[in-house]
Amino acid sequence: MKVFKFGGASVKDANGVRNVIKVLEKVGYENTLIVVSAMGKMTNAFEVVVDYYFNDTGQLQSKLDDIKIFHKTILLDLFETEQHPVFKSVMVLFEDLNTFFKTNKSPDYNFVYDQVIGFGELISTTIISYYLNEKGFKNNWLDVRNCIKTDNYYRRANVNWEATQEQITKAVDKSTLYITQGFLGSDSNNFTTTLGREGSDYTAAIFAYCLNADSVTIWKDVPGVLNGDPRVFKNTELLHTISYTEAIELAFYGASVIHPKTLQPLQQKEIPLHVKSFLNPENSGTTVNKTEGIVPKVPCFILKKNQVLLSLSTLDFSYVVEENISEIFNLLALYKMKVDVIQNSAISFSVCFDNTYNNLEKLLLHLKAKFKVTYHNNVSLYTIRHYDEAAIKALEKGKTVLLKQLFQETVQIVTN
Ligand code: ADP
Ligand code: ASP
Ligand code: MG
Repeated sequence: MKVFKFGGASVKDANGVRNVIKVLEKVGYENTLIVVSAMGKMTNAFEVVVDYYFNDTGQLQSKLDDIKIFHKTILLDLFETEQHPVFKSVMVLFEDLNTFFKTNKSPDYNFVYDQVIGFGELISTTIISYYLNEKGFKNNWLDVRNCIKTDNYYRRANVNWEATQEQITKAVDKSTLYITQGFLGSDSNNFTTTLGREGSDYTAAIFAYCLNADSVTIWKDVPGVLNGDPRVFKNTELLHTISYTEAIELAFYGASVIHPKTLQPLQQKEIPLHVKSFLNPENSGTTVNKTEGIVPKVPCFILKKNQVLLSLSTLDFSYVVEENISEIFNLLALYKMKVDVIQNSAISFSVCFDNTYNNLEKLLLHLKAKFKVTYHNNVSLYTIRHYDEAAIKALEKGKTVLLKQLFQETVQIVTN
């Protein structure tokens, strides 16, 4: 069996959906399970919906209308008549969402987020499944929430592998073409959960693992994995092969072309991952497999924006030792800060992290009681794997370096 994943960029409009068929025609689609993300930037749009639900209810309906219009435009382009049952199926999803807003009593932002945000994927897969069926690509629409079981850590749920394996074995017949949603799962009460932004790649890996798939292919708007995000860095080069370990490192440091959790399940069963262009599906793209390192071996550049750099020192100039560090880490965990770099000296401790859950104020309040705190918000964290002097020099040019850390293969530089 093969697993394909089509991301938001690949299905951002009606032509994108048509192109899915072109890809399937060119590369084959026997015994394939297709994981699909929300169309275009719809996950961001649903994030705004959640925000309005909590903070500006007056604007909620008009944002929902925008989302409806976006999908309806695509539907009208793909299907000849509004009498087609796909229209009804999509409208039912919007009604479900309205019912949720009317009946929800939970004040928990993260819970509400997951119940709302998942509609992006539910809608996209409904449209694509109908369209493929219409065009003769007979497929079954699979509700991923009956397959991927997680805990209830909303917005970054952890997979319950045993339950997931059991559900997938039950639900998937390996000789059928399936269309299912990326990014989503469900908890033990069957509430929708999400695996973290950009989590659809991970969904593909979870299915591949549980189905012992032959390969996973993620279809992108780039030729494969490059040695830097072409939107950020100039003159990027295509990496032809990458080892699992190297890909895990690149994803960990923030190479957003692959979600960081994707590689582990694939590595465990040595399932190759192909990253290919949905515009040129016959090109080989990048393969992540059991090889060593990367080919070609060039410096790889990664940028993480909107980080927080926090520096702490003790109020009485005593050393920052195990006790303080463990206390700091407990607070970072409590406020769900995703730590990227740490550096400590005798009397100070610096940490660079992602404030995904918007808990910075609360964290600062806690820390200021115990430490002298300075911080920079919205800093950029650059990582270069396989760096050389020229790469560091080029990167640092014209920037103020706030923190720099060199390891054997990796340098990390925080700038503002
Ligand atoms: P999708 O969600 O549609 O699967 P993404 O937008 O998440 O796709 O990922 C594709 C984008 O990832 C590219 O357009 C590119 O800008 C970005 N990207 C970041 N790092 C890299 C990299 N090292 N190689 C290629 N693309 C990268
Ligand atoms: N739609 C989700 C997101 O945009 C998941 C994904 O695309 O991978 O984060
Ligand atoms: Mg994405």
